[in-house]
Amino acid sequence: MMPVLLSPITDPLWPDPAAEELITPPEVEVYGRRVRLMHSMILHKQLALAMGVDRIFVLSPNVRLERRDDGRHAYEFTQLDFEIAHASMDDVMHLVEELLAGLFREARRWELDEITPNLPVIRVPFRRFRREELIEEFGGEEEASRLMQEPFWVTDIPREFYDREVGGVWRNYDLYLPGGYGEVLSGGEREWEYDRIVNKMRRAGVDPSLFGPYLEVARRGMLRPSAGAGIGIERLVRYLVNAEHIAEVQPFPRIPGAPVII
Ligand code: AMP
Ligand code: MG
Repeated sequence: MMPVLLSPITDPLWPDPAAEELITPPEVEVYGRRVRLMHSMILHKQLALAMGVDRIFVLSPNVRLERRDDGRHAYEFTQLDFEIAHASMDDVMHLVEELLAGLFREARRWELDEITPNLPVIRVPFRRFRREELIEEFGGEEEASRLMQEPFWVTDIPREFYDREVGGVWRNYDLYLPGGYGEVLSGGEREWEYDRIVNKMRRAGVDPSLFGPYLEVARRGMLRPSAGAGIGIERLVRYLVNAEHIAEVQPFPRIPGAPVII
């Protein structure tokens, strides 16, 4: 699928409502209506599956005016975003493991290791931690990312209304990179039933009226069970080539707080 860049509906939980300084998401006016620059195509992926396609991927440009320049946030970045009808979290985790194992294998075959001598060696499957378990063992995701030697999964993360929760367990997952490279992927099994989605919106204090077209499709029973994920391309490449700063892997760096040059 080709990406959507402008829409009245995009990922609702950025900017983080609990953040100290509120960020105004950039909007533009299109024929008299204000629309946002995409933060993430998650809801569009669900809607695309509702049209009848079973598997999609999209290279999706995202704009998020991040505050902090910490070497791994850009204010404009790209996700390799995909969604699969009737898939489970195990299916997606397995697919991602195969994808990354293949990527690193190919990188070595193409002798990228001569340019970047520290090309990581990765072994799959990656270890899985439930979020609670990880916090108990390491204190937090960032600490774990600094201490671990291999990429690892974090599952059961309380978050947005579209991530599926079964019996109090969130069937979602983030992939973290070792060496302090941090989070590189977020994904989950999705909610598809109207009542569950609306209840979770209310619980999270999200105004359902802002998601009219999406909820209308859900109300008609047209959303389908699915699972997917989005991989941060610049973050993955930064890890692959061992770059100090995300700016090194963007030909036209989009660094929070830095003036736009081109
Ligand atoms: P999220 O929807 O926030 O989980 O973002 C999905 C993925 O996009 C993350 O796992 C990161 O790999 C990547 N990502 C999110 N925010 C940024 C950012 N500001 N700069 C670069 N990559 C990002
Ligand atoms: Mg995330």
